[in-house]
Amino acid sequence: MTAKIIDGKTVAAELRARIASEVARLKSAHGVTPGLAVVLVGADPASEVYVRNKSKAVTEAGMNPVDRHLPATVSEVELLALIAQLNADPKVNGILVQLPLPKHIDAQKVIHAIASEKDVDGFHPLNVGRHASGSPGLVPCTPLGCVILAKTVKPSLEGLDAVVIGRSNIVGKPVAQLLLSENATVTIAHSKTRDLAAVCRRADVLIAAIGRPEFVRGDWIKPGAIVIDVGINRVTGEGGKSKIVGDVAYAEASRVAGAITPVPGGVGPMTIACLLLNTLRATCEHNNLPAPSL
Ligand code: NAD
Repeated sequence: MTAKIIDGKTVAAELRARIASEVARLKSAHGVTPGLAVVLVGADPASEVYVRNKSKAVTEAGMNPVDRHLPATVSEVELLALIAQLNADPKVNGILVQLPLPKHIDAQKVIHAIASEKDVDGFHPLNVGRHASGSPGLVPCTPLGCVILAKTVKPSLEGLDAVVIGRSNIVGKPVAQLLLSENATVTIAHSKTRDLAAVCRRADVLIAAIGRPEFVRGDWIKPGAIVIDVGINRVTGEGGKSKIVGDVAYAEASRVAGAITPVPGGVGPMTIACLLLNTLRATCEHNNLPAPSL
């Protein structure tokens, strides 16, 4: 058996196209243009690439990018003042602070300072609490992307056994919450889990968010399972060239799974698409307009 490849690039492009047409409709029907503020502190090369890609996607969707680039030496007080200014700006519907921040700045303090209704990353404790208690709120982008991809294979995840490896606040925990709200039976596995391979073999849906190259082996996978690989790991491949691999041993796993995301080209492209989706949803909420059905 060879697994179906879940093409995140195509799914993300389709979602972005639907978002762009909804943005155009918002503009013509209501004179509203969503604005997304992306705050970058310092000059970390990876963060600079992420921020550039985000701004490009925001513009392509017809939204207004509001980029704020601050030097690595900026004080916490100055950064918090900028957040307060963006919170108060009616043209800004979403605020994203690119992580990691320099060591002298308390990232938690900064995340808490973002108005929860503009928290398009879904990391603010109010949104985490809303999500956990089943109230509407903004949901983290990468987990949302994982669930959208799984549902392209099986539109209903109800009753399925889902195993999430990883319990970070950014991926593991929120993706487990989302799967629970899809009525899956969810297990969260982590570094202290006993017999991880046996736990994974129960999974109809397996989400790997570990950060270890090709850690999940082919014989850990239940035949026919949906495998969503969140991992982004840079390794040295043949000929000393560096390449990106996921947390799942793709070649082995794709001989057993029913469907699997590649790395790159799986979960990665969905994160920005879901960021745009959250910005659109936040804009509708701020303007008392019904949430778009995308
Ligand atoms: P993290 O380091 O915060 O968390 C890793 C989790 O893996 C931890 O909860 C830990 O318990 C678990 N873990 C570690 N070793 C383990 C082991 N031996 N057995 C079982 N579990 C183990 O990482 P994160 O921020 O959640 O990111 C995970 C991966 O996803 C990374 O590769 C990251 O680069 C990637 N990621 C991708 C995207 C994207 O595609 N856009 C977004 C965020 C993170």
